Amino acid sequence: MASDTEDQQVGQFGTCCDELNQVMSGEEFEPLITLGGDDILYMSVGLIDIEEDEPGMVDHPVFFCPFCGTKVQDPEEIRARLDAADEDDDA
Ligand SMILES: [Zn+2]
Repeated sequence: MASDTEDQQVGQFGTCCDELNQVMSGEEFEPLITLGGDDILYMSVGLIDIEEDEPGMVDHPVFFCPFCGTKVQDPEEIRARLDAADEDDDA
């Protein structure tokens, strides 16, 4: 039931359930789950004290929807993309 949409999950976060869809729309509040500029879905997992005016947010890639458990990103693929991005930064 409703399994014919699996191919649409790439770049379409929030299609798995109303809860994540509401977070992604971000209309009623500022979500702590956000889509990064690299098209990777991140969740803010905490605050870090960097001794500046404002605490920094600690983000971590989200592999499974925290609401319904649907796999939204592949850990190996994300890791590969982050590693590739790191190599670009070194250049
Ligand atoms: Zn979901």
